[in-house]
Amino acid sequence: MGKLIVLEGIDGSGKSTQFQMLCSRLEKSGAEFRRLVFPQYSEPSSALIKMYLGGEFGTSPEDVNAYAASAFFAVDRFASYKKVWKKYYDAGGVLLSDRYTTSNAVHQASKLGEAERAAFFDWLYEFEFTLMGMPEPDAVIYMDVPLETALEQMRRREAETNTAGDIHETDSAYLKKCRECAVQAAEHYGWKRIGCTEGGVMRRAEDISEEIFDYVTREVL
Ligand code: ADP
Repeated sequence: MGKLIVLEGIDGSGKSTQFQMLCSRLEKSGAEFRRLVFPQYSEPSSALIKMYLGGEFGTSPEDVNAYAASAFFAVDRFASYKKVWKKYYDAGGVLLSDRYTTSNAVHQASKLGEAERAAFFDWLYEFEFTLMGMPEPDAVIYMDVPLETALEQMRRREAETNTAGDIHETDSAYLKKCRECAVQAAEHYGWKRIGCTEGGVMRRAEDISEEIFDYVTREVL
């Protein structure tokens, strides 16, 4: 069996930026690995996700409960596992993933009261890893960013790319709960936390990248 390394964080935490940087550094170091990015918006397995995020089941994230929405995202991962990376992983390959099951813990647990979240976290891992049979990550790198910083970064990206946010990204009350859930999930599951701000200001992307690269090469690979 191979290794699965996941990068996780709320929207606007700089995940995609760090994912690219980690991949480049690992490539330069000669490491053999493959990339995964979820959701797979260009694949038919993401149909329900697109309907949900596009507001077809209701314009608020709460219009689809945590368990139903988690199933949509799990199905997309299952399709990619079976079609794209199972063989490589079974033969000992290393996979680096931008989001995974862990994103359900961050984005769906926020629909539940604090007391119900631990049971949801346990259900989530049981559902995808035991019942659906997908691999559990060997390491989850959680990029911790306060809500205000994440919101600033998201608005900046929307301006840079001239795009509008989906029903998660435009709902700041929902995103606030996502940050709380991310912190709770990181503790619950024992994720590796990377603090991305100092004194309320985002650290340099290069410095965050250095910390992530050191962790991955020294403690995971
Ligand atoms: P995510 O994938 O978590 O939503 P992105 O990687 O797309 O986040 O980053 C969101 C925005 O913040 C982008 O405009 C990106 O260029 C910028 N950004 C990411 N990391 C940093 C950083 N460390 N310092 C300053 N800006 C950053």
